[in-house]
Amino acid sequence: MLGGGNLVTNLPRKQPHQSPHETVDGNENCGKCSSEIQECDHGLQCERCDTWYCISCLNLSEKEYTVLSVRAVFHWFCEECENKALHAVRNDQEIEERCSTYMKNINERNEMKLKSRQRLLLINSQLWSRRNRGRLLA
Ligand SMILES: [Zn+2]
Ligand SMILES: [Zn+2]
Repeated sequence: MLGGGNLVTNLPRKQPHQSPHETVDGNENCGKCSSEIQECDHGLQCERCDTWYCISCLNLSEKEYTVLSVRAVFHWFCEECENKALHAVRNDQEIEERCSTYMKNINERNEMKLKSRQRLLLINSQLWSRRNRGRLLA
């Protein structure tokens, strides 16, 4: 007999999804002014580097903070990470542009190759028919 019950109890329990902006785990310090951000305080946590920032350092009013925090999907990056993200995006665009130019060149070259091959096939078939005709006449 197999102990089927074990399979159920051994399943890993999934952690309930938590928005990183809703609560502060313990005392966090603001990444800019180093002041403690407590649960009653308002702050935003960077999604990339997990650093907390108090709203006064972010030049956000309480009203703005409330509007931001009630949004269901809210992504926030600190200034440093935002700059990095922008830089990464710029790099991606550059790479994409370079790739598309490269692909265009390859396509053009392939088309030229295809055309010259078609011309060669045409010449070959003409030669063949001429030769064949000659043989028929001989
Ligand atoms: Zn601060
Ligand atoms: Zn960050």
